[in-house]
Amino acid sequence: MGYLFLLPQYPKVAWKTVVLNTTLHPRFKFILWLAVQNRLTTVDRLLKIGIVVPTDCAFCATTRETFDHLFFGCCVTRSVWNRLLAWLGCARTVGSWPDELTWACQIAKRKNGKSSIAAYCFAMTVYIIWRERNNLRFKQGYFDAAKIYWEIALHIHIRGNGIQLWQNALLSLNSIP
Ligand SMILES: [Zn+2]
Repeated sequence: MGYLFLLPQYPKVAWKTVVLNTTLHPRFKFILWLAVQNRLTTVDRLLKIGIVVPTDCAFCATTRETFDHLFFGCCVTRSVWNRLLAWLGCARTVGSWPDELTWACQIAKRKNGKSSIAAYCFAMTVYIIWRERNNLRFKQGYFDAAKIYWEIALHIHIRGNGIQLWQNALLSLNSIP
């Protein structure tokens, strides 16, 4: 597994706030932890270690899948994250993976409900994109963005029930993204 050490890694301090968020569901935490260390098995990584797989992005089918394409170069995943940001009341344009990760780390440090929910949503979105990508690739599933928005909104409200800091911000998230 020595090759792993050749891959670029973000310094621990940069992402620990968002990954080590204590409210974060363990499933989301694990996938985000792999993503920040560039350890998700995207096509570019598989090819590097000699594993040949279909190369097209499972979402748009027009470009070779790379980590940077999935997060968030792809028109489909970018539009999902864009829409979620609008729902969260975060007026900003979706950038590259390092841009989004840096942003998520910055807001994860803030002690207000809106920022805390947005950082949580970022982690959940990374998890869902990876899950849906695997669904499309290995289970011949289909991608239904509307279902994802419902899933995220419901999860945030159910999870948020027990989080005092989120209460006021949850009131303004009274719609589906
Ligand atoms: Zn794509």
